[in-house]
Amino acid sequence: MRSARSFLSVIALLSGSVSLMACYATAAPLDDAIVHTDRIGRHHAYWHDPTITAADAREVRLATIVPLGATLVDLTHVFDEETIVWPSESQGFRREGTTRGAGDGHYASGRFSTPEHGGTHLDAPSHFAGGKHTADRVPLPRLMAQAVVLDIEAKAAANPDAQLEPADITAFEERYGQLPRGAFVLVRTGWSERWPDRKRYLGDDRAGHTDALHFPGIAPDAAKLLVEREVGAVGIDTASVDHGPSKAFEAHRTFANAEVPTFENVARLGMVPETGAVVIALPMKIGDGSGGPARIVAVVPG
Ligand SMILES: [Zn+2]
Repeated sequence: MRSARSFLSVIALLSGSVSLMACYATAAPLDDAIVHTDRIGRHHAYWHDPTITAADAREVRLATIVPLGATLVDLTHVFDEETIVWPSESQGFRREGTTRGAGDGHYASGRFSTPEHGGTHLDAPSHFAGGKHTADRVPLPRLMAQAVVLDIEAKAAANPDAQLEPADITAFEERYGQLPRGAFVLVRTGWSERWPDRKRYLGDDRAGHTDALHFPGIAPDAAKLLVEREVGAVGIDTASVDHGPSKAFEAHRTFANAEVPTFENVARLGMVPETGAVVIALPMKIGDGSGGPARIVAVVPG
């Protein structure tokens, strides 16, 4: 079984193709895989959980990462004093830097502090569901996967409280087929163009106020459908997967209970095609973290 899979991975490498649908065809649980290092050191990526014994091992192969001719698109906003954080946070991103010397004597360093939920960041399942994965425990296959972009930019332009609805998902599936299991679903609203203008991005720029927020999100029923499809992770180019007026944070809870990590304040989704890209979203590995800053990259085939 393993040698057959290794053979397939070599074929994938030789062809330079990224075929994640095929990778997940073995139906291994996303959270259950174990590392198996290629004999000649190729960088297939596996989730390694030291608490899982070899007898329990299931592989989740990622195939090659960057095919020839691909474009790497940075989907991350810069972290600086303009970084937008959730309005209930009393402090935003802060960095104190020091630089001294010059030429061969140059030395620079600094320290930073930040809310876990600010800028381009992960919401670990533990953010809204007790006992679920914390930031350091989110399995790698959920953070590196075939990307699917669901575009609601047109209706968001007409209504800042617009939501991704189940009908948007089924319309996508009529064009491209059912969402692949394990996919990294990105919801494009066009909102990252408004960054870092807090008033335009959140609908309200009063510090400490969350009662008059307006921005697009994911409707509760759409979140349930994405979980039914067993998607691996979800990202959105607004401040929250639940739209601004939400008080119950139902999309957050649905994803969290299903161990689906989410990413918020994702940038530049206009540069990612609806299908065909691969996304790598690596959050800071904060022990027991409810989330944290993330660097997100899309690999877009040429
Ligand atoms: Zn968050």
